[in-house]
Amino acid sequence: MRLKDAVLKVVKTAGGFTLMRASRWRRRRLMILCYHGVSVDDQHEWDPAFYVTQDHLRDRLRMLVNGGYTILPLAEATRRLYDGTLPARSVAITFDDGAADFATHALPVLREFNVPVTLYLSTYYCFVRLPVFDTMLSYVMWRGRNSGGDLRHVCEVAEPVPVKTDEQHEHAFELIQAVVARTNLNAEEKNALLPRVAAALGVDYEDIQRRELLTLMSPEVVRSLPSDIVDVQLHTHRHRTPRDRALFVSEIVDNIAAIHQIRGAELPLEHFCYPSGDYYGEFLPWLRETGVKYATTCVPEIASPDTDPLLIPRLIDSMNHSELAFESWVSGFAMLLPRRSEYRLDALRLQ
Ligand SMILES: [Zn+2]
Repeated sequence: MRLKDAVLKVVKTAGGFTLMRASRWRRRRLMILCYHGVSVDDQHEWDPAFYVTQDHLRDRLRMLVNGGYTILPLAEATRRLYDGTLPARSVAITFDDGAADFATHALPVLREFNVPVTLYLSTYYCFVRLPVFDTMLSYVMWRGRNSGGDLRHVCEVAEPVPVKTDEQHEHAFELIQAVVARTNLNAEEKNALLPRVAAALGVDYEDIQRRELLTLMSPEVVRSLPSDIVDVQLHTHRHRTPRDRALFVSEIVDNIAAIHQIRGAELPLEHFCYPSGDYYGEFLPWLRETGVKYATTCVPEIASPDTDPLLIPRLIDSMNHSELAFESWVSGFAMLLPRRSEYRLDALRLQ
């Protein structure tokens, strides 16, 4: 057991979590949790910060239900945060991006507990169903790391390009990016490199495609998500936030149009999440302009009625957080501990 967990265990046994979650301080506050992917296969081993297993998600929801937490839909939770009418131990759950595994692997677990979630959806890759090149390249190289294969042909060099260690992985990644830049490949040509990389490393790329790993849900699947527990909201069209007003606004406008096309024009779209957690002060008036009322960051804090509604913090739960650490967060206890500076809004970004 890590030292931090050993300390938390003592706190828990002494009733510290119970005291915190029942406090008046906690009652005025809202903990928003953030998830990305639920592992279909081995993605949680590849990227434990962004993928959790179904069992991990199930354990978290069970802990929240057994701990007497109130899991609210985000729209209700944010309204009541600022009204001052939150119920005890309020939590809201969000998923980012809209990966195919949301429908196949997250939804069945959410349904087991009938837990409401907000899905922040980037829409471009719903329609253009290509994987994000850099992410898929990195995953395929990781899958083939122990194959003994190498990428000299794809990298167009004479000497072997293995991918076994992190350093080799990074080097091969850079060589491939150099090929892409030198030969000026478009998105489709770039994606045609992926099966070549897979073949050189003995990875079954057809299987990856068939199981839609690292790919977003199609519009049909997004349309079929049950609206009693899934609220689809904004995450920009192309998962980017240009620091230019016109480009930024069109990201939101295109995202709104696409979600309305998929989920119906009457759906209110007032919730937004900053892609990659990147926020800057100039974004706030641009968001208001497009009708966004609430926006979430990835600053791991708990929201209070004093929180700016366009800079609401969220905790990214991951395989790297122990159950004790998770409990210390949702109870509010973690807020009493000294934390690193990344646990605060970055004033420089807000100037
Ligand atoms: Zn995202």
